[in-house]
Amino acid sequence: MNLNLKKRISPHFIVGEVVKTCSEGIDTNIINNARRLAETCLEPVRNRINRPLIVNSWYRSRKYNAQVGGKRTSQHIRGEAVDLRLDADCWKIQLAQLVPLFKTYADYDQMIVESSPTAHWLHVSHTDRHANRHQYLQINTH
Ligand SMILES: [Zn+2]
Repeated sequence: MNLNLKKRISPHFIVGEVVKTCSEGIDTNIINNARRLAETCLEPVRNRINRPLIVNSWYRSRKYNAQVGGKRTSQHIRGEAVDLRLDADCWKIQLAQLVPLFKTYADYDQMIVESSPTAHWLHVSHTDRHANRHQYLQINTH
């Protein structure tokens, strides 16, 4: 698939962010899933927080997902999940800003606070395969 990395999928997000860590095997269906995630979850929060949501990782091929220790059923494989953070602030402050906004304004399937020994991020997903569950979890993983 020929990708235009600068193409917008929503007012604040571009294809380049969807394929930031992996573009192998991407297709239109995956881009459409990413667009739905942006429209239903990311834009409502982005518009209210009024500062960039920084993407760590969005789409992953099955192979790449396995390499980074993702679950076999990870929604990243469909483009339905994104890992993100804000710039600069300490993590507790980031969470205090982001979590209430997602809970109030986003139609998310899962929101998971994740951390590794060296990093923190918020995993947010949206699906059109079933009702979005609005599950909020905190996990130490990876
Ligand atoms: Zn994730």
